[in-house]
Amino acid sequence: MLAKKKRVKKTAEEREGYEGLKEVDCLGLQAAIAKRSPEEVNIIRYSASLATGTSEKLHELGLTESNVCLLCGQKESSTTHMQWQCEVVKAKRKKTYITQIDPRDMPVHLLHGMPGSLEKDIHTTYWGKNRAEIHTEDEYARVRMGLPQNNRQWVFKKP
Ligand SMILES: [Zn+2]
Repeated sequence: MLAKKKRVKKTAEEREGYEGLKEVDCLGLQAAIAKRSPEEVNIIRYSASLATGTSEKLHELGLTESNVCLLCGQKESSTTHMQWQCEVVKAKRKKTYITQIDPRDMPVHLLHGMPGSLEKDIHTTYWGKNRAEIHTEDEYARVRMGLPQNNRQWVFKKP
């Protein structure tokens, strides 16, 4: 188990797409994948591998003349842009509470489909952000991120 944690830590240090990842929530990831179609599982695996071929990466490799997003024309075409910020992709995305979450509120590794271990504090998001740090305005999305409801206190009080 210790070796596994060290591998995750080393990978998080080396790959900016896993920044902040301390431990992978393997059971959570398996449970999430179990409910998905084979095509969706492939998309999650591809995203979590950080191997997405964005214009930015292709430009870094000298394979394209520009790093502009081919869908919307914006200068930034990182994986985060492609998956969370591109207006063309957003317009095609099915509306769920996830589309209401501001990507600035999520850790980078989770944006790419790699869940980390859960935080223990029930007053924060599952990844440890306080309500005051959150940009997401939709209350249902906030609750789905792990925050207690605004107008209701949890039964357990923080010591
Ligand atoms: Zn775009």
